[in-house]
Amino acid sequence: MGICKFCNQERELCDSHIIPEFMYKPMYQEKHQFYELSNIKKVRYHQKGLREKLLCKKCESFFSVYEGYAASVFRKISNYSLDYNKGFIIIPDVDYIKYKLFLLSVLWRMSISKKSVFKISSLGPYKERIHNLLLNKDPGKTYQYTFHQGIILLNGKQEKDLIVPPNSKRINGINTHSFVMHGMLFIINCVNHQINNQIPPSLKIDNNLVIYILEGSKIDSFISFMNEILQNNPSLDI
Ligand SMILES: [Zn+2]
Repeated sequence: MGICKFCNQERELCDSHIIPEFMYKPMYQEKHQFYELSNIKKVRYHQKGLREKLLCKKCESFFSVYEGYAASVFRKISNYSLDYNKGFIIIPDVDYIKYKLFLLSVLWRMSISKKSVFKISSLGPYKERIHNLLLNKDPGKTYQYTFHQGIILLNGKQEKDLIVPPNSKRINGINTHSFVMHGMLFIINCVNHQINNQIPPSLKIDNNLVIYILEGSKIDSFISFMNEILQNNPSLDI
């Protein structure tokens, strides 16, 4: 027994994953390691360290709804033919509420982790705010907690076993948290108010998910890379 981090009730706790389990499947089958993004250096993967007793069964199943939905979107993305020259793809009909709550749930789990390499300790007041949004099934306004998503190409293809622990940075006064799962880079901006001149988020209320296609070697300049794409494709800025 222990206190569930989500509902704060005393319950039997599960071995919870910080990064959803379905994303490990390609990795279990293949290389049993994850990568460090800075120089795509291989890092040994410790399976046991990635589970923690954090949530009760009821809360685990609450999150699994969003994970199941994200898994279905990820399958759609995998089936999409990537037009590398265009620099981005648009996946239509992605449920703004479910998909954004999924990403917020991953970010929140990273903030409650005690020992995992996936720990984010810099969420500050946003930890409680995100917890409340999740409890209320509220994804927030479109300008809050915006995110950008990109497919990372290594040697020309998406490596679905690519998982990279989070990296937190302050960019233009905004706390950003980036991590890689399923071979895709996610950058979540902890912002609560409307910001001018912000790069348009990957998902808005129109349910079109814009995913940038990134060469592994260009990751460090992700923001400028996206700006470049947006300049060449003004219609994306809607
Ligand atoms: Zn619970």
